[in-house]
Amino acid sequence: MCKKVLLLIMLLCLLAPARGFAEFLPEDAVLPEPTEGPGGESDAQQGGLLEEGGLLYLVNREHKARAAYQPADLTVPKVATRKKDMEQRILLRPEAARALEELFAAAKREKKYVLYAVSGYRSYGIQQILFNGKVKEVGKERAMRTVAPPGTSEHQLGLAMDVQSSNFLNLDQNFGETPEGKWVAENAHRFGFIIRYKEEWREITGYADEPWHIRYIGKAHAMAVHALNVPYEKYVEAISDLPEYVLSGATDLLLAGIARSRLAGEASPLPEQLLNANTREEQAEALRAATLPYLPEDLTYEKALWAIYPTPKPTAGPRVDEDEETHLSVVSGHAVTP
Ligand SMILES: [Zn+2]
Repeated sequence: MCKKVLLLIMLLCLLAPARGFAEFLPEDAVLPEPTEGPGGESDAQQGGLLEEGGLLYLVNREHKARAAYQPADLTVPKVATRKKDMEQRILLRPEAARALEELFAAAKREKKYVLYAVSGYRSYGIQQILFNGKVKEVGKERAMRTVAPPGTSEHQLGLAMDVQSSNFLNLDQNFGETPEGKWVAENAHRFGFIIRYKEEWREITGYADEPWHIRYIGKAHAMAVHALNVPYEKYVEAISDLPEYVLSGATDLLLAGIARSRLAGEASPLPEQLLNANTREEQAEALRAATLPYLPEDLTYEKALWAIYPTPKPTAGPRVDEDEETHLSVVSGHAVTP
């Protein structure tokens, strides 16, 4: 390796936070303490869910993450890794980390499958090094197809994870044919993850089949995307004009229902009631009313809501639980509270 490359790596190590290079650090490297959300709370949400820093933020070859973007709340998911010494070096944002723990636990509980976390957060700097290395190896054109150019990887968001299983220790397409890979594809959405890249979506996602790569977008959206079976790009397009309280408080049924008609090319304006709801009570009621047409016969709205948001957070400020309606607004309060 030439001196220039070594110098570049040293420079990037100085510029970027050390944990961005977690996967590539030498054994004795001192890592900063992983950050925990305050009191285990969910990710701090400044802007909208679809914006940078939001759980729904879209990143692909056209829609790049800023070089300077790094989540402030990276943490170590308590999951198995293939190599023991990787355990403290794989990072995700807190909400995704907890969901990954649940996903892996369910695989073990339901099927006795042992899943491994392989690669989580990856900084812009490390993406640059990986990409440049690949270009040297196979040329730019082939590198573009297999390695994400800097800024185009979801791993920079701290919301993507590559997984393996104890029975299949490679990151390749064949993972999708293993029992564990199939289980991940059929169950990841229950925990808020989607399979981001499928062969039939290559033209839209810009990436080949990657059955090992899962992206966290939260339970409601992941269940909607799974039900629709569409590339995330298409889903984001279909929901991009939904009010923030809908994005954060709707059931999967409502999200999938709205997206489905739009994906089918139908002119599908948002119901008036969703646009005109201002207070929490109005929003809770609007969400309920808009969801009713999509409810299967054997399901109540409350059950559908609680399947997605089982533990409402306390809402800010004093609140009186008086009747059914107030109760409902508390449930949706979870959704509209940052
Ligand atoms: Zn990946």
